Amino acid sequence: MGNIIDGKSIAAGVVLHICNETRSFSERTGLRPGLAVCIVGDNPASAVYVRAKEKRALEAGFTSRVIRKADCTQAELLEQIDALNEDSEIHGILVQLPLPAGFSERAVIERIAPHKDVDGFHTENSGKLSCGIDDGFVPCTPLGCLHLLRRHHASLGAKIEGKNALIIGRSNIVGKPMASLLLGENATVTIAHSRTRDLADICRASEIVVAAVGRAGYVKGDWIGEGAVVIDVGINRTAAGRLVGDVEFSGAVIRASGITPVPGGVGPMTIAMLLWNTLLSAHRSCSLAEPDLLLDC
Ligand code: NDP
Repeated sequence: MGNIIDGKSIAAGVVLHICNETRSFSERTGLRPGLAVCIVGDNPASAVYVRAKEKRALEAGFTSRVIRKADCTQAELLEQIDALNEDSEIHGILVQLPLPAGFSERAVIERIAPHKDVDGFHTENSGKLSCGIDDGFVPCTPLGCLHLLRRHHASLGAKIEGKNALIIGRSNIVGKPMASLLLGENATVTIAHSRTRDLADICRASEIVVAAVGRAGYVKGDWIGEGAVVIDVGINRTAAGRLVGDVEFSGAVIRASGITPVPGGVGPMTIAMLLWNTLLSAHRSCSLAEPDLLLDC
């Protein structure tokens, strides 16, 4: 179907662009961008995500350091972060969430030096995004969604500016930063959440829909207006073990001008943007001009 937004292949293009930019960075500086990932506990899904991040970072020519702690205290984790903050080989630090019970995720995130916070979760970075200051880091999933939306609109000769955009979900890692990004594109933004009334009607009137709810097939196909663009962030596992999004795909795909599948839509873009943020951080640490995230890469 021609209206599928193929996140997997678009992410592969972005990663290729990152590999080229990394080579040029290394030639100029003799350094490699360095990404450190801390993982605490034994969450199997987190272990899979961390392995994928490590693999992609190495493929892109980065230094990758994974700090696995089966069991540690919050104080030990904070000490580890302090050491990474001081480590000149490391440009990006990420702590895989969720942390085990008893940890304060906020305290841990706030300990990461904002200029190495490539997940963009530190309040200094979220504050910069809200204020439209562009020298911080934008959270990877919404940044990936924005890239997909920009590309899709460009391919149609259309603009995001002025469009009615609906974001379903108001989390700090997806919904709120996505709203800031779309405001920055001059869209007219509505944020919906669990207390929103008449969601189906709001959705039908929206030209861009970003679904980040975490409920399989929650957004019904007939909620999607003719020609709308749908970005499905949700990752949900059905009882049969299949991965599905938040949007009822079969009904939405016949109405949308573009729609991301699950899997193969937003997911691959998230890791690509993590590498991108780390590459930006490496450039900033050397006071080099930042590369551009080209739409046609
Ligand atoms: P959260 O659980 O933090 O947020 C979910 C949001 O959905 C909340 O704001 C909640 O509202 C809202 N919501 C819940 N029920 C309803 C409802 N019935 N109607 C309208 N809104 C509702 O989730 P995340 O933002 O972290 O993640 C959302 C989804 O995206 C998950 O499936 C997650 O796995 C996936 N994800 C995918 C990523 C990727 O790389 N593809 C990365 C990150 C997340 P309220 O605030 O009122 O509770």
